[in-house]
Amino acid sequence: MDLKNTLAIVVPCYNEEEAFPFSVKSLTEVLKGMIASKKISEKSFVLFVDDGSKDKTWQLIEEETKVNPFARGLKLSGNVGHQNALLAGLLTANEDSDITVSIDADLQDDVNAIEKMVDAYLNGADIVYGVRSDRSSDSVFKRATAQGFYKVMSAMGAKSVYNHADFRLMSHRAVEALSEYKERNLFLRGIVPLIGFKTEKVYYERSKRVAGESKYPLKKMLKFAFDGITSFSIKPISLITALGIIIIICSVAALIYSLISYFTGNAEPGWASLIISIWFLGGVQLAAIGLVGQYVGKIYVESKERPRFNIEKYAKHKEEE
Ligand code: UDP
Ligand code: MG
Repeated sequence: MDLKNTLAIVVPCYNEEEAFPFSVKSLTEVLKGMIASKKISEKSFVLFVDDGSKDKTWQLIEEETKVNPFARGLKLSGNVGHQNALLAGLLTANEDSDITVSIDADLQDDVNAIEKMVDAYLNGADIVYGVRSDRSSDSVFKRATAQGFYKVMSAMGAKSVYNHADFRLMSHRAVEALSEYKERNLFLRGIVPLIGFKTEKVYYERSKRVAGESKYPLKKMLKFAFDGITSFSIKPISLITALGIIIIICSVAALIYSLISYFTGNAEPGWASLIISIWFLGGVQLAAIGLVGQYVGKIYVESKERPRFNIEKYAKHKEEE
């Protein structure tokens, strides 16, 4: 029996008093099942992170820790948002665990996929992504916005795993590597693929919320998407530079056109010089703003102080050890 594999399931909870009783029950079952089949150690636990809930979520979590040996709770001092709450949970859990799995409190993600993730880990993967094989349980609106989100994200150069939310397994060292990404604008789905290591995907069907309402209204979702793009790419700045250059080219073309009209004698006096200078100057200004932006973008990237590499293995000849 391998006692080393302590699994921590990390569950961010914001006003989840309705869903909590369901999720604590099924996650505990999942743990017990895997402990019984000796895949993970008996020290495995579920860590519920209360993200400054205004309802009775924390009281429920605290009560649970008194009666359930597998339950732990972490109360944040205020609402810091899903991503930050998740990071708090992962870093705290990682102190006592070899494997972490993050999952939402609403059980939309299939808890049975956790065992498949652990299997992939036991086969050598450091990061295992839970990927939705179908979204039919989501509303048409949610589906369309989510698909659009992935498309825009990848067009903007922020790599993320398609149809993967924050349901994933990470090994101890992967979480350690994650903690080196010191940025404040946290977008885990974009950062985790940067960590590297051996990754695997587990497919599952996404279902409806077990209870309660979505904590991601449209406004939060748009902010999330905007954060995702602006924290991962300076492409919008490059687009502005490109636009400026295109406008300059267009105005040069217009200049040539109006010179031709002038010499062929069918030009309106004063019109061409006016319009062309407006466009040309507009183009120059846009390109210049874009250029300044490129430098700002560089400063931005530097200020994140992301690690430049993560080491996976270091092979040496025996005698040199
Ligand atoms: N959540 C959180 N802090 C917040 C908003 C949400 O910790 O400020 C948690 C929430 O309790 C849930 C998860 O993040 O466990 C995902 O939220 P939700 O299910 O409402 O999002 P959706 O599935 O609708 O995108
Ligand atoms: Mg949900």
